Amino acid sequence: MMLQGVGLQKHFPATRGMTLGRARGWIKAVDGVSVQVAEGETLGIVGESGSGKTTLARIFLLLERPTAGSLLFDGQPTATFTRTDLARYRRAVQAVFQDPYSSLDPRMRVEHIVAEPLPPDGGAVRERVAEVLQQVGLRRDSGALYPHEFSGGQRQRIAIARALVTSPRLIVLDEPVSALDVSIRAQILNLLKGLQEELGLAYVMISHDLAAARFLATRLAVMYAGRLVETGECDAVYTEPLHPYTQALLSAALPLHPSARRQRIVLTGEVPNPMNPPAGCRFHPRCPRAMPQCRTAEPGWKEVRPGRFAACHLY
Ligand code: SF4
Repeated sequence: MMLQGVGLQKHFPATRGMTLGRARGWIKAVDGVSVQVAEGETLGIVGESGSGKTTLARIFLLLERPTAGSLLFDGQPTATFTRTDLARYRRAVQAVFQDPYSSLDPRMRVEHIVAEPLPPDGGAVRERVAEVLQQVGLRRDSGALYPHEFSGGQRQRIAIARALVTSPRLIVLDEPVSALDVSIRAQILNLLKGLQEELGLAYVMISHDLAAARFLATRLAVMYAGRLVETGECDAVYTEPLHPYTQALLSAALPLHPSARRQRIVLTGEVPNPMNPPAGCRFHPRCPRAMPQCRTAEPGWKEVRPGRFAACHLY
């Protein structure tokens, strides 16, 4: 397995300002997540904001160190990385963030932005930059321009070119089309899909947009309040969501979806306070199918169907 998270946990200390008078404690952004990414696949990680998916992405990018659990790359724990291992990881695992307006330095020429992850090497770098600009559908000579000379969709292409420049094996896509006009989202998703087929890339796609996740993801992991609630092949999860939270998300996002027509579920209430998540099943205050034991006993992680896992007392 290329990338493997085992029992990943990220708890942040709550500062005085964040507690608003409540007792100090820990914000449990990610709270025991085990997940794997294989070569060439797309793992979609979906959930509402506050589910912990962005923190999980930052752990994958080594921008956050987990407070417990471990992250393994080609079987090696990232906690044991030497400087050489770390440099290898940074080349192999790249990122594209949501907002192409703030992720590109406006004072830098595109050629310097795209070349940023590479060691300086004159002519070879210039040739590589031209090559990746072409791969993302921009002109080979557009490196001489500045970000403001491009549209939002083109800027996201520049961000993708920067991620490609080191020939990575995995790109973490954090809401890659959410900041773009609806009319150009499909173009960027198609570009990402084409690049994956051509280069054999793996993606981790963080998204609250289920339709966008479905377009790219081969496997789906649904997060709620810092935990995984369901994983499985993307098509199977969309066709027959098992966990009541996944059913509610799909029902809200894809109103024409067969399961949504069967069972229209309106999610009320909010994602729980990450400092003090509910006892038992964290989803129980919002779950239309909650039973008495859901309030006290935390559901275990079970293989409900072959390759389909969920944490819910219904199974
Ligand atoms: Fe709903 Fe209970 Fe399942 Fe949680 S464990 S999702 S509360 S039925």
